[in-house]
Amino acid sequence: MLRTGRSPRHLFHFTIMTMAPERGGRDQGVRIRVSSIGPSHCCEGKIFRIRSLPSGRVRPDRTNKWRLTPMLVPTLLALLALLGGSGSAPGFSGTAMAQPVNVGDAVTAAYAYHDSGLYERDMRAVMARASGWVRAQAGKYPNPAVILDIDETALSNWPELKANRFAYFRSGRCDGLPEGPCGAEAWERAAKAEAIAPTLDFYRMARRLGVAVFFITGRYENERADTIRNLARAGYAGWSGLVLRPDGSRTASAADYKAAARARIEARGFHILATIGDQPSDLAGGHAERGFLLPNPFYRVP
Ligand SMILES: [Mg+2]
Repeated sequence: MLRTGRSPRHLFHFTIMTMAPERGGRDQGVRIRVSSIGPSHCCEGKIFRIRSLPSGRVRPDRTNKWRLTPMLVPTLLALLALLGGSGSAPGFSGTAMAQPVNVGDAVTAAYAYHDSGLYERDMRAVMARASGWVRAQAGKYPNPAVILDIDETALSNWPELKANRFAYFRSGRCDGLPEGPCGAEAWERAAKAEAIAPTLDFYRMARRLGVAVFFITGRYENERADTIRNLARAGYAGWSGLVLRPDGSRTASAADYKAAARARIEARGFHILATIGDQPSDLAGGHAERGFLLPNPFYRVP
C-alpha cells in the first residue's frame, strides 16, 4: 500500500495500493481501493484500476510518501462521476474495472468540480503558496517581477467553456450565451471575462510590494486592444507588460514561446520570482525562480 487517506476534495476515501509499469508499455497504472463514495457508500471495498497514467501524475513527496498531484484530480473526479449512484449498475458487481474514462462523465465531473467551489478553493490554495513565496523574496532583488498567464489564470472563460461543454471553437459567433456554441475569438473580443479572484488578490499584493507584473499569453497580437480592455475591466491595473503571440506564429509547445518571452524580460533587468499559469507549458523552460501551476481540468494547451 502506497497511500491511504481521504481525497483532497473530501468526496470519497481511497487507498492507492500499487503503482507499477504496464507490461510492455511505458505508462503506469494505479489501483485504487475505494472505502466510501459520497453518501451512498456504494462501492466500499471495491478496487478499481486506472490505466494509462503517465508517470509523474502520482509522485512521492519530500517525505517519500505518495500523494495525489493536481494532475490526477480530474481523473479521480471522473471516476467519482462514473461511480455515482451506480451501486447496482452493470459492470460494477466485480472487484476490478478496466473501463477507460468516459468523456461524458468527465464533462459532468468537470462541471461539478467548478460548481462545487472546489475549483476556487484549489486556485486559492495555489495562489496562497505563490503569495508566500513572493512576499519572502520581493525585498531581495532590485527589480522583482512575476509572470501571469491570462486565460484560466488571470481571467476566467467559464461562460464560454460551459456553453461549449469544453469543446473549442476558434471561429464563429458567441451571441447566444448561456447557450453554445461560443466562438473563442468572438468571446475574447467581447472582453467580458471576469477576474479569477485569488489571482486578482495575488496581483494586488504583488503591486503593493512593488513587484512588477507581466502577462504572457497565448492570445495573438491582434487581440491586444481587447485583452487590455478586458484586463482593465476585471481590475488589473498598473501592470508592466503584456506579451502576446505574433499573429500567425506557431510553436510545438506554448513553453517555447513563453520561456523565450521570460528570457527577454530578464534581459531588461528584471528578476522573475515566479511564473504562474494553468498549464505546465506556462511554467516550463526556466527563466523564473519558481513556477506555480493552477488547476485546470477543462482543457490542455501543449
Ligand atoms: Mg491559461
